[in-house]
Amino acid sequence: MRIVVLTGGIGGARFLLGVRAYAREVGAEVTAVVNVGDDLLLHGLKVCPDLDSVLYTLGGGADPERGWGRVGETWTVKDELAAYGAEPSWFGLGDKDLATHLVRTTMLNAGYPLSQVTEALASRWQPGVRLLPATDERLETHAVVEDDQGRRAIHFQEWWVRHRADVPTHQFVFVGADAAKPAPGVVEAIAAADVVLIAPSNPVVSIAPVLAVPGLRDAVADGPAPVVGVSPIIGGAPVRGMADRCLAVLGVECSAAGVGRLYGGRAAGGLLDGWLVAPEDAGTTVPDVTVASAPLRMTDDAATAAMVRAALELT
Ligand code: GDP
Ligand code: CA
Repeated sequence: MRIVVLTGGIGGARFLLGVRAYAREVGAEVTAVVNVGDDLLLHGLKVCPDLDSVLYTLGGGADPERGWGRVGETWTVKDELAAYGAEPSWFGLGDKDLATHLVRTTMLNAGYPLSQVTEALASRWQPGVRLLPATDERLETHAVVEDDQGRRAIHFQEWWVRHRADVPTHQFVFVGADAAKPAPGVVEAIAAADVVLIAPSNPVVSIAPVLAVPGLRDAVADGPAPVVGVSPIIGGAPVRGMADRCLAVLGVECSAAGVGRLYGGRAAGGLLDGWLVAPEDAGTTVPDVTVASAPLRMTDDAATAAMVRAALELT
């Protein structure tokens, strides 16, 4: 069995722990197609927050409390940069994490595409699933905001980390998406999949930028594999993070139904055949989509693997 998962960072990484546990049980192969819209250049280094969250989480090196970055992290370089007044100072760059960005940037500068760099980083972390960036090209999520400097676009990380998503926002744009191509292997993996799962990641700033890569959305929507999504919203609220603020920018209700309808049913030009919601949201309906409910709190690998089983039962 071949499973493809479309995913963002922390929520997606936790979901992948359950997918991997399930896959080990049944002998399935897993390919994760990971968002790159959060990626940014900091102090000359290429940082890929979602790829790193997945690598560190599946590799057993993530900080479980913070959710992002490395466990046992130290912040000497960050403090030294602050002493120089070097901006941006609002992004948490840990010392251990920096080694990843140094290796990545060196390889990118030597001409390797991000997909090959990711494969090289994965040879250390042994995530147990194949990790593909959605694209090798530069695709960045920007938020169009309105503040005392007028209307302007800022990088997603500045919006999320620096402003805590708390600034009047008109829309998100995926800069570079027009010229992007799916990374090698992405379309092939989707075409060969027995099922495509949409992780309970942020639909607006984690999954949408993956789908914004030309050809990727069509590969999923027109592909042979059934598509099942898992709701990141339980009882009208994100389990963690600020998906509510992201959905508000789109004018979409923060609910399992709102997100399910945003993805839409395949018969109506959307993506989903199945939509898995939490028991709190049982009764949710999405036109042309089979909806089921199951506990959706990813408390440990076994609970998350049970979620994956419930999602697969929808196919
Ligand atoms: P990010 O890229 O690091 O922001 O992470 P993702 O986009 O992959 O995931 C963020 C989403 O995961 C948030 O919208 C959360 O609501 C969702 N999430 C986090 N933990 C859980 C959980 O235990 N269950 C469910 N269903 N969703 C969760
Ligand atoms: Ca992210």
